[in-house]
Amino acid sequence: MPPPLRRVFVDMNAYFASVEQQEDPKLRGRPIGVVPVMARTSCCIAASYEAKKFGIKTGTPVWEALRLCPRIRLVLARHEKYVEYHDKIVRAVGRCLPVDRILSIDEMVCNLIGDEREPANAERIARKMKDEIRNSVGECVTASIGIAPNTMLAKVGTDLQKPDGLVIIRGDELPHRLFPLKLTDFSGIGPRMEKRFHRYGIFSVEQLCGLSAKSMRTIWSSQVHGDRWYHLLRGDEVRDPPTKRQTVGHSHVLPPEIRTHPGVYGVMVKLIHKAAARLRALNHWCGQMAVTVRYEHGERWDAACKVLRTQDTLSLLRAFDSLWPSRLPGKPTQAGMVLFDLTPTPGTTPSLFDADRDLVAVSHAMDRINRQFGKNVIRFGTLCGSEDTAPTRIAFTQIPEFDPASI
Ligand SMILES: [Mg+2]
Repeated sequence: MPPPLRRVFVDMNAYFASVEQQEDPKLRGRPIGVVPVMARTSCCIAASYEAKKFGIKTGTPVWEALRLCPRIRLVLARHEKYVEYHDKIVRAVGRCLPVDRILSIDEMVCNLIGDEREPANAERIARKMKDEIRNSVGECVTASIGIAPNTMLAKVGTDLQKPDGLVIIRGDELPHRLFPLKLTDFSGIGPRMEKRFHRYGIFSVEQLCGLSAKSMRTIWSSQVHGDRWYHLLRGDEVRDPPTKRQTVGHSHVLPPEIRTHPGVYGVMVKLIHKAAARLRALNHWCGQMAVTVRYEHGERWDAACKVLRTQDTLSLLRAFDSLWPSRLPGKPTQAGMVLFDLTPTPGTTPSLFDADRDLVAVSHAMDRINRQFGKNVIRFGTLCGSEDTAPTRIAFTQIPEFDPASI
């Protein structure tokens, strides 16, 4: 029995650029590049399909985009708009099928059950999703939808047809349907893994699919990951490898002189820096954060929030800032925080929000500097408190322009 269709993967096309075209009709049908700052030295963080035709893509420097297409319109990124549209898209998709997982600002996965797994029904549901998005979000905001027996293959499906695609990879088409793909077309197989395949004489997906589970374990030098890929390519459902680590957290008893709100805020910021660095060192990502403050008469403030799967310090600080206003009055005595809902880096889809990726890169750059020059030589400045402990400050507003490659 070939595996049934179990997953629907929704991937928005040229997401930031299509939101801008939706917002401003003058930008529709035109090559546009979305930039974090208006400067020739800046980079496009998204390009419309009209701009992609000129070879402009995410990461193309502005000066080069202008050379490739002098009439390109550059638009300043508006992250709050992209989040607002994201919410509308999740609701539109959710009217067709319950959204099981949101993987990034422009990617989500739904499950098919019962009759929905019939290819004709699955296709009908996917078309309804497209209609819902078009009608309630906007005609410029299109999605590529992939339907397959597992999430990995459904994501492959979204890449096979862009923009506005709908691709079904049925169980009985496996594995030959995958043969025309490149090894690196699978999310989770990067250039480093590809080199490894080459060393073992594997140059094509057909060769990869022909390997025994035993050979795959050898190539991955991991029983878990070798088996995992063996089954993924056959359309089996594979649970993410269990993560032994459940949480990363720290707490701190406040010295008397900082038993104030700015004092506890500053300590919390430090604890978040520490936990985020540890999360990265452990090669994990988190989906939730909880904070606790204890007060002198035994009161306790507990708050928690979900974050788009992250491992960067600034996203966590921002999440903390959103919780902070709900704190209790009174004299704080102890601060604690914990990151949980952890997943290891293999098997985690990082945010496709380019700005988020930049933030992760910035955080890793900070780790390298701190490793070389000592703890906390470099850290994020914050909105209030803790300045005295931060010899080098990076203000929030500088982050989008900060190029980790320059250090
Ligand atoms: Mg996308």
